[in-house]
Amino acid sequence: MRKSDLKRYEKLLLQKRAEVMERVRALRASEAEGSGEEAPDLGDRALTTASRDMLYLLSTGERAVLRRVENSLARVSAGTYGKCLHCDGKIQKGRLDAVPWARYCIQCQELLDRGEFTDQEP
Ligand SMILES: [Zn+2]
Repeated sequence: MRKSDLKRYEKLLLQKRAEVMERVRALRASEAEGSGEEAPDLGDRALTTASRDMLYLLSTGERAVLRRVENSLARVSAGTYGKCLHCDGKIQKGRLDAVPWARYCIQCQELLDRGEFTDQEP
């Protein structure tokens, strides 16, 4: 993958993470309403211990996306981003454009959807 592409996907991943964290902040704010408690400003910083404790406010789906985004960011650092976790092949560009945190190429995703292998990602 070209460096410029990698940078672009990294930016999309960071944006997505900021978006989810903003949602955590909003949920936290609505939860704090009435208790007179100030909601902490999480901004777009990396996950802090405090914000991790608030992840229970998210739906299961949102938590899964956040985990995938974080794992993808880890793969960007490790230099393995864009590689299918199942067949080691390249994940199609169009697929990454649509879902930057995709872990499998289209073929493997279909196999996964049919239950032909188990999702190994923690
Ligand atoms: Zn694959």
